[in-house]
Amino acid sequence: MKKEKISAKNTQPGRLPNFGVLDVIVGPMFSGKSEELMKRLRRFKIAGLKVMVFNHALDKRYATNKIASHSKQKWQAVSVQKPEEILKKIKKNMDVVIIDEVQFFSKTIIPVINQLITKNIHVVVAGADTDFRGDPFSSVPNLLALADGEVVKLKAVCTVCKKWNATRSQRLLANGQPAPRQDSLIKIGAGDCYQARCRKHHIVIS
Ligand SMILES: [Zn+2]
Repeated sequence: MKKEKISAKNTQPGRLPNFGVLDVIVGPMFSGKSEELMKRLRRFKIAGLKVMVFNHALDKRYATNKIASHSKQKWQAVSVQKPEEILKKIKKNMDVVIIDEVQFFSKTIIPVINQLITKNIHVVVAGADTDFRGDPFSSVPNLLALADGEVVKLKAVCTVCKKWNATRSQRLLANGQPAPRQDSLIKIGAGDCYQARCRKHHIVIS
């Protein structure tokens, strides 16, 4: 049987390699996912860990090279389009990799994250677990299944009933009407075309 090659960074004599873990933070729009990421980022930095933040180049809500929560706090982030670029752009000896808006990435985000974990990197991702139709969003359900660290499922306040039970992102058209099911899956925007809604008040026109 062919022996698996183990990188020098991971190996100490007589010891098995160390692996990182995957934490996943999910929730609808306005549930505080980016704030939750920033809270963790601050904790990692206080501990002196080397952290790199990535986001998708598609997310141009504020600035392409920063992650920003709706409360306008910002952190430097490296914007990438393809998951593989994370492996190319990561600096040496990183302890933690944070990926925001992970639902925008293609399916190869899964093997990329697995590679990071194999390199003893703690990976924290945040993203929307459901799309505007209320369906599981791209690779996020798979990431939830693969998480071996923390799983945090955040809720927002429903804009209709004002209860802290919103698990869905309601997309609205310019005329204020709910978006139809056949609308394109990805549409970037903050307050103007999305609202947090509970299951009862989430409407998709079919
Ligand atoms: Zn409601």
